[in-house]
Amino acid sequence: MTDTKYTATKSTTERAIVIGGGISGLLAAKVLSEYYGEILVIDRDALPDLPENRPGTPQAFQPHRLSPRGSLILNRLFPGLTEELLTNGAPSSQGRASYLINPYGNMVTVNPQQEALFSRALLEWALRRRVQMIPHVHFLARTDVLGFYPTPDRSQIIGVQIQERGSAQAQVNPITSDLVIDCSGRSSKAVQWLTELGYDVPEPELLRVSLGYSTRHYKIPSDKADQWNVLRSEGDPARGTYTAVLSVIENNIAEMTLWGLGGRYPATNAEQFEREVAQLANPIFMERLQELEPVSSPRGYRVPELTRQHFEQMRRWPSGLLVMGDAFAQFDPIYGQGMTVAAIEAEILAACLSQQQLRPRSDFELSVLQRMQDTIEPAWWLNGVADLRWPGVEHVGPEPLKGLTFAQRYFEFILRHSTEQTDYQLHGLYWLVNSLYLSPSELFNPHLVSSLLADGSDAGKQLLYELAAGSDRSIEELLEHNMPSFERAAFATMDQLMQQP
Ligand SMILES: Cc1cc2nc3c(=O)[nH]c(=O)nc-3n(C[C@H](O)[C@H](O)[C@H](O)COP(=O)(O)OP(=O)(O)OC[C@H]3O[C@@H](n4cnc5c(N)ncnc54)[C@H](O)[C@@H]3O)c2cc1C
Repeated sequence: MTDTKYTATKSTTERAIVIGGGISGLLAAKVLSEYYGEILVIDRDALPDLPENRPGTPQAFQPHRLSPRGSLILNRLFPGLTEELLTNGAPSSQGRASYLINPYGNMVTVNPQQEALFSRALLEWALRRRVQMIPHVHFLARTDVLGFYPTPDRSQIIGVQIQERGSAQAQVNPITSDLVIDCSGRSSKAVQWLTELGYDVPEPELLRVSLGYSTRHYKIPSDKADQWNVLRSEGDPARGTYTAVLSVIENNIAEMTLWGLGGRYPATNAEQFEREVAQLANPIFMERLQELEPVSSPRGYRVPELTRQHFEQMRRWPSGLLVMGDAFAQFDPIYGQGMTVAAIEAEILAACLSQQQLRPRSDFELSVLQRMQDTIEPAWWLNGVADLRWPGVEHVGPEPLKGLTFAQRYFEFILRHSTEQTDYQLHGLYWLVNSLYLSPSELFNPHLVSSLLADGSDAGKQLLYELAAGSDRSIEELLEHNMPSFERAAFATMDQLMQQP
């Protein structure tokens, strides 16, 4: 790790600063390294030489699954990443079974692809090692960023104010740069710092979720090591039952997680936790746990609300500043979208920096924030559709989420239909949309909607009736009018999916 002493310097050219060396910070640093002469990644933590959790990312003990889209982008940015994770002990998902349980039955799929199964600590360590190898990227660890450093007229951010950790007398010093990207996650102070500089920051949109995680680690005996990829049972909002996930990571560790919403917090006491696992409708979880040896106590993590900032709507935004990752918008972790959104944002950053070199635009920062927001939009909407089914969850925003009620009932219909008919294609499509590979509009394709809902079932007829709401418009017109299109968001296409190895 390179810990260089940095003090106030004359206004340099070609330096970019990244606040936070978590997942989005590392991805930003990698992208910036193609465009800037020097990149400084500043983190308040000491950055470990081994895959270890650290205080600045308290969520890291909880499972961190990477979606196929996220994996695709990370491997594009860091060629050979999956192989590297496998070499460093991550088991492969290839050939392992995933048991997906929902209130309508079970689906079992066997993963044909080579994906690595890892802890957040291992992934972050592998990414950090790669970024540390880039000669002009420097890490400033154990250093707090205490504010932005503006020009006297405050129209531009030309650096940050920093303070070394560990000494109460340590001075606060500015470091200058041409671009600052705030990747400081959930604890970001961007709104506070912008407000102190006189910027009018819009109220964020909120999902008041009151969600709770509890995870316990178990050792898998070597003769049981290759049995499953993931067991997942979806919670039922009508009965207030927990979602349960049992997954595997490096070092033969299984992670057992319970998740509840609307103030239904799973236990963090070991006995009570196992009692709650035993009470799940499907006994498979307890049967598996009985074969394993607990190696940690259950650890909780609570999220009162998810925040989506709307920086892109600001009339005045300082040049030289961007925001990425959880500092911009956070998602319900149970859907595993946070790191994927950070990865898509990194791709957007790369595309925008490249365009800026060819054809500079004066509103560069706001245009980047707008493009990132276009990608946040479908993820946020999918979170709202899923989480607002639970009692006690509330959306706070200038407008309700478009098409919410129909989407909730239609998605439930798809889950039921695909499970009862063992329709793996439809189930796969539903999953690819929810993991941000494909646009939700793939599910609102008029042909699919009409063929699914015209299956002769009462539920299908009822949904068609509700969609029409007394109008004589065609299904195409109704869907176009009632559902969001997400046309500006970046997605993979069905063709790209088919071409993937
Ligand atoms: C319980 C839980 C489970 C999750 N599971 C998944 C999952 O399965 N899949 C998935 O894709 N996503 C998951 N996520 C989301 C994921 O953790 C984040 O979306 C992802 O890490 C991107 O976050 P980030 O890099 O923006 O912030 P973080 O990873 O939180 O990193 C922020 C960094 O900024 C540093 N920092 C903060 N403030 C300062 C400061 N003032 N000065 C200097 N440094 C600072 C911190 O030390 C930290 O290193 C989960 C989240 C939670 C809460």
